[in-house]
Amino acid sequence: MNEGVAERNANSALYEGASAGFHLTNNSTRSKFEFSSDIYAHDTVKELLKHIQSHKCCFCEAKITHISYGDVEHFRPKAAYKQDENSNLEYPGYFWLAYEWSNLYLSCQICNGRNKLNYFPLEDNLNRANPLLRDIALEDPSFIDPGGNINPEDHISFHGAIPESSTAKGTITIKYLGLDREELNEDRLESLARLRALENIVEITADSIKAPEARKRFLDLLETCVSEWSEYSSMFKCNFKTHLAKI
Ligand SMILES: [Zn+2]
Repeated sequence: MNEGVAERNANSALYEGASAGFHLTNNSTRSKFEFSSDIYAHDTVKELLKHIQSHKCCFCEAKITHISYGDVEHFRPKAAYKQDENSNLEYPGYFWLAYEWSNLYLSCQICNGRNKLNYFPLEDNLNRANPLLRDIALEDPSFIDPGGNINPEDHISFHGAIPESSTAKGTITIKYLGLDREELNEDRLESLARLRALENIVEITADSIKAPEARKRFLDLLETCVSEWSEYSSMFKCNFKTHLAKI
C-alpha cells in the first residue's frame, strides 16, 4: 500500500491547495479526486481481506466468493457521503481514507452497491470530521463498524432468521444495509432449518441408545456454525444460545 500512501498524500495536498472547489454542489465545476481501484482493490488487498474475513461479507455475513468476486468496500465513503435518505450528497467524502486498511472491507455487491451506497450517517452530524483536520475520532457512526470496537451482537439479534435491532445503531444498520432483505432472510432460513432439523432429531431420539452420539454430532455441527469463519454465525449464536455452553 505504499502507492496508496503516495495517493493519499497527493489528494491531501490537492485539497489543502484549493479546498473550496471540492465542496461545490455543481457536478461539472466541482473539483474531483481520482481514486485508483488498481490500488485499493488490488488482488493482494482483496486476497488478504478475503482471508481475514473468511470470505464473508462484512455486513450480511454471507459467503460471497463462491458466486461472485466481492467488492472492496470503503466503510467511510471516499468520494461523497449522505447522512440519511432525506439528505443531499455531500462533497468531498473521506478521501484521505481511500487507501487505509482500517477503512477497507470485503462486501457483497448487494450490501455495498445496492444498499449502503454513499450513506454514512452519524449519531450527531455536527461531529462530522473536517477534511482538513481529518478528526474522525470525534465521530460516532450510526453504522456498526464490522472491524470496530462495537460488538454487533449488542445491537442486532435474530428472531429465527430475521434480524432485529435492540438499539438505534442496530435499526439504522439493518435499514440502510438491507440486512432484512427477503432473499437474505430466505437464505438464512434455509441454513437455520437444517440445524433445527438435526436438533429435532436429537430431541426425538433422546431415549435411544444412540442419543449421546446424535447429541455429539449436533453439537459438533453447531460448533462449526457459530465459529466466526462460518456463514451467518451471529444468527446461529442467537438461535442456539441454550446449547452454546455445551460446545
Ligand atoms: Zn452483504
